[in-house]
Amino acid sequence: MSTSDVLHRQLDRRLPTVVSGSGPYLVDDEGRRYLDASGGAAVSCLGHDHPRVVEAIARQASRVAFAHTSMLTNAPMEELAHRLIDAAPPGIARVAFLSGGSEAVEAALKLARQYFMEIGQPERRYVIARHQSYHGNTLGALSVSGHAARRAFYAPFLAQNVAHIPPCYAYRHQAPDETPEAYGLRAADALEAKILELGAGTVAAFIAEPIVGATLGAVPAVPGYFRRVREICDRHGVLFIADEVMCGMGRSGTLFAMEQEGAVPDLITVAKGLAAGYQPLGALLVGQRIVEAIAAGSGALAHGHTYMGHAIACAAGVAVFDAIREEGLLHNVRRLGGLLEDGLRARFGQHPHVGDIRGRGLLWALELVESRDDKRPFPRAARLHAAFKETAMRHGLICYPSGGTADGLEGDHVLLAPPYNAEPAHIEEIVELVGKALSTVLSAQLGSDEP
Ligand code: PMP
Repeated sequence: MSTSDVLHRQLDRRLPTVVSGSGPYLVDDEGRRYLDASGGAAVSCLGHDHPRVVEAIARQASRVAFAHTSMLTNAPMEELAHRLIDAAPPGIARVAFLSGGSEAVEAALKLARQYFMEIGQPERRYVIARHQSYHGNTLGALSVSGHAARRAFYAPFLAQNVAHIPPCYAYRHQAPDETPEAYGLRAADALEAKILELGAGTVAAFIAEPIVGATLGAVPAVPGYFRRVREICDRHGVLFIADEVMCGMGRSGTLFAMEQEGAVPDLITVAKGLAAGYQPLGALLVGQRIVEAIAAGSGALAHGHTYMGHAIACAAGVAVFDAIREEGLLHNVRRLGGLLEDGLRARFGQHPHVGDIRGRGLLWALELVESRDDKRPFPRAARLHAAFKETAMRHGLICYPSGGTADGLEGDHVLLAPPYNAEPAHIEEIVELVGKALSTVLSAQLGSDEP
């Protein structure tokens, strides 16, 4: 047992104490340096000491930190909203600022329900989400998350008006004789089947991550999937919520991941990259027809939190947004993402225990399997992902491994999400350290020398 008074996530583990950060590196109090190849869970998209963001936070703190946004607005919040609306897909009209991803998802779910109350369709009470998804840990967000392990303890508290369909997960669900396009249509049609099963006119919203992050590890949809989803939602009057908490704000190579899908959501959540970890900040982008329905109806959000639109958090968001734009970082994400993909494929493309290498932009993952031929995962009890996390840290690498989330059909995976302003040499170092950690973990697991 550690002597810490903090209720850490793992009660029996003593964690290194982080004392400083520089570029993509973190340093602990014993002087150990870690290459932060995942920014926690795809958070630190500008590394750990971006001068522009640090300065913006200090400047705003010296002016005013907090004033309740039910009574006053503040300049950074207005500026950030303006920038986001300007850059957002057409039809997105307003932004609400929250303190993180789960809060943004809660607000999206509640606003979807409020919309239908405002327009006189109270019978729309269901939300459809996907298995093996993660939308947050508050009860509403967890209710839509298809993450069996995180739900297990809390099942009686979770909303009952949620149904799940399979994700778009080509590595495991695309049939051998099926094209990606045909698979995408088949996967999306599961949404229509579920709407009809629940009863057309009873479904309020469909929520999905454009690139599945924490649960499956960097799984983008196949081409055409989200276009079909949009058509189905339109046909049945269902709102489409894109959860871009992890894949938004440039992580995919475009500011919003949905820009690459040819379909516009009604509501978009963003968080992690929005303030790049310098402040806790999330946002909900809201489509015009929802704003209009509320304006013409009750005229108010029946929802709010004390720290909405926090001035220092929004000031950090403005600085991050401007850095992404002015430092050409979207281009960098695509360029470095190409290098990372090439590096991973060159090093692990033929690896007997790497079943799949997938991702987009600077969000990539390796799926680890016991057998490549039949895609059989390692036994869940082996907790390979947990061993990988610890081993990688011993090798000086921070990454975000996970696994065994839902139906046991997926393998462990290792998620990588380096900062947008990394150097090519950092990308090489990441591939090298992942390789070292993988050999160490596999030789312990399999009791032999691994490639
Ligand atoms: N949605 C997605 C897609 C996420 O990846 C996460 C966090 N991993 C959340 C929601 C929840 O965000 P937070 O942890 O900031 O509450």
